[in-house]
Amino acid sequence: MLYYILGILAITAVHLILFMKCYERGIRYNRKHTIASVLFSIYMIFVIDYLQARVVDKLSEFFVVTLIFIPIGIIMPLIYRRFRYFVINVLFVGLFDICIVILQGLNLGEFMPVFIVFTLFGVLIGFVVSKFIRITFKDLRKSLIIKKLKKRVVFLSMEAEILVVSLLVLFFSVEIIEKVSGNNYVEKFDEKFEKTEVNKYSKIYFAEKDNYERYEAYAKIYPDMEDEEVVWRVNSNLDQYFYDSEYVNLADKNTDDPLLINKFNRVAEDFEPVKLITIEETYQSTKETSKAYKKMKSDMKKLNMNIYVVSAYRSVEYQKNLYNNYLKADSREDVDTYSARPGYSEHHTGRALDISHIKGNINAFEGSEEAKWVYANCHKYGFIVRYKENQTDVTGYMYEPWHITYVGTEISETMHKENIETLEEYVERYVNHKNK
Ligand SMILES: [Zn+2]
Repeated sequence: MLYYILGILAITAVHLILFMKCYERGIRYNRKHTIASVLFSIYMIFVIDYLQARVVDKLSEFFVVTLIFIPIGIIMPLIYRRFRYFVINVLFVGLFDICIVILQGLNLGEFMPVFIVFTLFGVLIGFVVSKFIRITFKDLRKSLIIKKLKKRVVFLSMEAEILVVSLLVLFFSVEIIEKVSGNNYVEKFDEKFEKTEVNKYSKIYFAEKDNYERYEAYAKIYPDMEDEEVVWRVNSNLDQYFYDSEYVNLADKNTDDPLLINKFNRVAEDFEPVKLITIEETYQSTKETSKAYKKMKSDMKKLNMNIYVVSAYRSVEYQKNLYNNYLKADSREDVDTYSARPGYSEHHTGRALDISHIKGNINAFEGSEEAKWVYANCHKYGFIVRYKENQTDVTGYMYEPWHITYVGTEISETMHKENIETLEEYVERYVNHKNK
């Protein structure tokens, strides 16, 4: 982008000089010539910008270079009197090529001068086409050139040379300043320009600038997914592998009651939750969890239903034994779908409960009247069914109708009202980012 801006500045300056020269010497200013010349100059900037930062070393790319230089072979003999002769045209392009090779060397530290042969081949083709155009449209060239008054003005058609020289001086200056200062201005400028383009994710309040590339990559994998879902999923690291140590956070860093525990948010080995109390039999939970559970249980009793706690608080040590025992029977991959690795279990918080209508049997719970009632009503007591059906790719766990988590009624009611199925989504929308 910087090259284009510098180039357009140079074009403007050169054509202003041309205009003033014409005015000063009483020559009729040719507007068609100017338009053709400006278009041609912009085209030259494109060629410089295209070639200065790439080393052409494939046959298909050489073919592209040939194509790129055909217009130069066509236009030059049409506009510029001095370039009437093919040899001069070739010399000009040759010089131009050498400058590009130097720019490539400065930019990339390597160059491939062979491409010059292909540029000249392109010019040759263009020149033949140009001849054909001149024969067919006899008046075209006449209308494009600036008529000189005898030999008084010999420099008028110099604007191409002035332009190219000033462009190259500008480009070289940028390169040399970058080399000396160690700053990449062109790249920074381009980045800035790209950033001002409105990124579609920037409209989503919980989107994070640093994640834009990840959103785009994730959206490519799930083209039908809505942008907001892409954003909260990527923010939750769901574009990464579960348990990837690079993306795992210590959730209890600043609190003894972390809200989100999952396969990317763990507690420390020696984590101790807020004060625990007995919820039922020997099971322990937080005070609020116990209170909410008891209220729910007594309301269910009025409807002739009963539930029991099958599991509640578990220490990291306890989870370690549990997980290792599962590993004796199943592969790690399978165990990960139903049991958390030590440190990653919600049961560490004292707010997660496994419940069933049959004491000690969680597997019987699915499909029971009690399970259906809990699924539909637990939000009223501040609970959520944490691992819902069809959310396996978000939670990392199979459907667990028995596993409910106390999050408080504010969160559970919001999730219910807004149809938010997972705590992961809730945390991105309401905790990690505030809606402005
Ligand atoms: Zn559980």
